[in-house]
Amino acid sequence: MYPRLVINRQKIKENTALIAEKASQLDIDLYAVSKVYCGMPSVAQASIEGGAKAIADSRLENFEKMIDLNCDKVLLRLPMQSEAERVVALCDISLNSEIETLKALDHAADKATKKHRVILMIDLGDLREGILKADVDKTVKAIMDMKHITLEGIGVNLTCYGGVIPGPDNLGDLVSIAAHIEKEFDLALKVISGGNSSSLFLLDNGEMPSKINNLRIGEAIVLGRETAYGDIIKGAHEDAFILEAEIIELKTKDSIPTGKIGMDAFGNKPTFVDKGKMLRAIAAIGRQDVNPEGLTPLDERIEIIGASSDHMIMDLTATGETYAVGQVVQFRLDYGAMLKACTSEYIKKVIL
Ligand SMILES: *Cc1c(COP(=O)(O)O)cnc(C)c1O
Repeated sequence: MYPRLVINRQKIKENTALIAEKASQLDIDLYAVSKVYCGMPSVAQASIEGGAKAIADSRLENFEKMIDLNCDKVLLRLPMQSEAERVVALCDISLNSEIETLKALDHAADKATKKHRVILMIDLGDLREGILKADVDKTVKAIMDMKHITLEGIGVNLTCYGGVIPGPDNLGDLVSIAAHIEKEFDLALKVISGGNSSSLFLLDNGEMPSKINNLRIGEAIVLGRETAYGDIIKGAHEDAFILEAEIIELKTKDSIPTGKIGMDAFGNKPTFVDKGKMLRAIAAIGRQDVNPEGLTPLDERIEIIGASSDHMIMDLTATGETYAVGQVVQFRLDYGAMLKACTSEYIKKVIL
């Protein structure tokens, strides 16, 4: 059945192992991030087998799917106060930046007779989540006063909203803040979490501050790329996930529409380049399932030229007579396309 996403667990395991091995040389461990593939348990399991220390995700629904996985579960997105009880039930650790939410977690942990571990997020300039440096002491003190919460460590998130690149300056700041907390409050922080796939290049260039001991890695495991500069990770698989869609029409037609041009299905006024007659294929997949701009056909002779909700149009002129109606075209996906494809209920997931 098509369209389908074919997921190679061995490649996920090998990508995890490659990165975990490199990180472990600097005494850094990995949380493997499962949110882009909606927490499919057997895929997450492959990352654990590849050496990830824990599984991290943004959504509790995904942790419900992964309930049988035998590892620490880390909630990446700041908890909603309204989900505090489920956070404590489903996760061992959560990332936090709000004292009121921490109080709700403390209360929920008390009720569940559990200890919940937290990583306090510090905003070092990317302007997504995290407390400001000036609020560190106040917040740590508040956590120390909570009986059912343990401060596991601190962390930073970069290159997500503001596009800020990690380096010795901002990660150095994180390390200094950790040292300050340890001294001021006479405690040891287990985790100093230096970011996501955009921090990986620092493992190679020797600029990772030595006290950083954790990274939270999603995209690099799944797509084989680091995300500060978009570079391929040497030796990693870029094709652990492949999308397949079936051709439902294949005809030679004009390359520009005939008639007065108004708006397309999404309210945009389309423009066209006249390439004369073209061998055009329609695949049964569309914007409801993926963003076509994020797909790369494995057959380099194919060009994607547009899509509506359920139809994707491709120029197959250069392929000659290779394809026929009923045949399948394969694509690699970028992060955005993968996120959508994994989430689309219309795309079957085939796990190898
Ligand atoms: C999504 C996310 C990550 C993983 O990011 P990648 O770029 O996929 O490695 C890490 N930390 C947090 C807080 C996240 O939300």
